[in-house]
Amino acid sequence: MLDRMQPVPAVSTVRDLQKIALSHGRTPLEDAPGLGAALGGPRILMKRDDCTGFALGGNKCRKLEYIFADALTAGCDIVLTAAGRQSNHCRQTAAAAARCGLDVRLLLAEMVDRTDPAYQGNGNLLLDKIYGARIEIVGRECDTAGRLQDIAESLRREGRSPYIIDFGGSTPRGAQGYIDCAAEIVQQAKAIGANIDHIVLASGSGGTQAGLIAGFREFSPETRVHGISILREDEAFAGEVLALARDASKLAGFASIPGQEDCLVHFEHLGSGYGLPTVEMQEAILLAARTEALLFDPVYTGKAMAGLRALIEKRVIRDEETVVFLHTGGAPGIFAYQELFETCSKGETA
Ligand SMILES: *Cc1c(COP(=O)(O)O)cnc(C)c1O
Repeated sequence: MLDRMQPVPAVSTVRDLQKIALSHGRTPLEDAPGLGAALGGPRILMKRDDCTGFALGGNKCRKLEYIFADALTAGCDIVLTAAGRQSNHCRQTAAAAARCGLDVRLLLAEMVDRTDPAYQGNGNLLLDKIYGARIEIVGRECDTAGRLQDIAESLRREGRSPYIIDFGGSTPRGAQGYIDCAAEIVQQAKAIGANIDHIVLASGSGGTQAGLIAGFREFSPETRVHGISILREDEAFAGEVLALARDASKLAGFASIPGQEDCLVHFEHLGSGYGLPTVEMQEAILLAARTEALLFDPVYTGKAMAGLRALIEKRVIRDEETVVFLHTGGAPGIFAYQELFETCSKGETA
């Protein structure tokens, strides 16, 4: 239960929607010349949402600022959400609940067949426990949305006020966080005299891409937003992202609503599936670490960087253009994939 004596994150109102403060504010937009030289093409700028300053960073923070404002306004005392065992969304949700003085229950599905101890217990799962989440692990086949409804129902019978956060926080409200991010990027690019031709990011539950599509459509309609799919492989996903982008635009009160042409999703970097490594992902992680000291993760940003590389090679992004790579975080996931990187050091002795 929220202790009224405790400091609650400050609430502000943006576009008539309430938002609490979890992040440290604007994240940097930085040149990545080492990576640019290695990939031999366009100017690459990194939008550092791995540095939101909240709970080891990542993109869920911006969405949760809107979602938790709604949860607090609704007077809830416990939040529930579901995702995979090594979910960044669940880690940031557990942290946000701790900051707001709310209880949190996580339903974690075995979406990836990895049974080694690091995957089973390290990384995000370890942090969920530290943040005080109550955790239930379920099989891949579990109808997690239905199970969350059941848990919420039984909590209500106990006199609690549960609030369910949708998969990945990808709702029109959550996507507002990435409308804010689009506005930030446009302002920051203007300040350094850069024109943003493309933005590339990892797309999972789709809310981040949807918010960016809505935001860029409003603030910089020439910018192309490329989502690299790391979860879904069916074309229907692009339609869902577009529908979410349109709803997010409407909720924001924008006049221009995104159309089909605004929604670009690339499916060829998923490999064998969500959370399953690809060679290109591994190469991209090592390249970013060794040229820019940036940490990308095996599930999201590593595959998205492999996607950026391919878009440059295929000249979809041309040499004279400027591309922003949205670094959505995820580094805690590296510790769950210890096995993958154990033999990658250059010239190991002993
Ligand atoms: C969740 C997540 C994404 C994808 O964001 P969606 O809004 O779910 O599409 C990308 N990168 C990281 C590191 C994430 O945790």
